[in-house]
Amino acid sequence: MKPLFALSISLLATCILMGNAQAADGAHWSYEGAHGPEHWAELDPANAACNASKEQSPVDIKAGESLAAKLPALIFNYKSSSAEVINNGHTVQVNLPAGSQLKVGDVSAELLQFHFHAPSEERFDGKTYPMDAHLVHKTADGKLSVVAVLFKEGQENQALKPILAALPAAGKNHPLATFDPAGLLPSDQRYFRFQGSLTTPPCSDGVSWQVLREPVEVSKAQIAAFRALYPMNARPVQPLNGRVIEVSQ
Ligand SMILES: [Zn+2]
Repeated sequence: MKPLFALSISLLATCILMGNAQAADGAHWSYEGAHGPEHWAELDPANAACNASKEQSPVDIKAGESLAAKLPALIFNYKSSSAEVINNGHTVQVNLPAGSQLKVGDVSAELLQFHFHAPSEERFDGKTYPMDAHLVHKTADGKLSVVAVLFKEGQENQALKPILAALPAAGKNHPLATFDPAGLLPSDQRYFRFQGSLTTPPCSDGVSWQVLREPVEVSKAQIAAFRALYPMNARPVQPLNGRVIEVSQ
């Protein structure tokens, strides 16, 4: 590698790191108190959508009010890869290299990362679950598509074991030599679909949400391990404002 090229790469890396730090610290948001969800829009003009948008996430999914529809199957073309487990101060997030895709109808989107909330942000008929995972995908034209998996207490989750057995402290990260995101998914992949937003500042809308109907099991000890770091990192549910939630037949 030429020295100049190496320098520009290292500068680029520094800028990206600083950018992330500013995004996290500049807005200085949290899940309760003066910087909690009711105040996110006031903390930074960039967060205006948190209040102004009529299509915010998460939502309470009422099965009886959902519209049965012939939704396209979710095709998870996921594969094993290396991974980076990051504790960013708001959640534990697992970043993945390119190579795993979600296909919905004709639209393909690349899996970028997944992360956890406790308790679950999505609710089923008002009920929260102990945890959820949001699998965040991006299409070639920059649209976000999130798949949510809800977790209920039960058997130890083998797929999550390498992550939850060694959670990094805030601001730390550690690599995993190999991880298969397909292991996170339930066997029944029918889902609820609606338009929503990011559930964290800047709350940008235009996000396609697919919430899997079948919860996946995690053990009590695994839930406790995550909740020792993040006892409450769920945004309250947001009004539907006339949005229709579709559900796979
Ligand atoms: Zn999330």
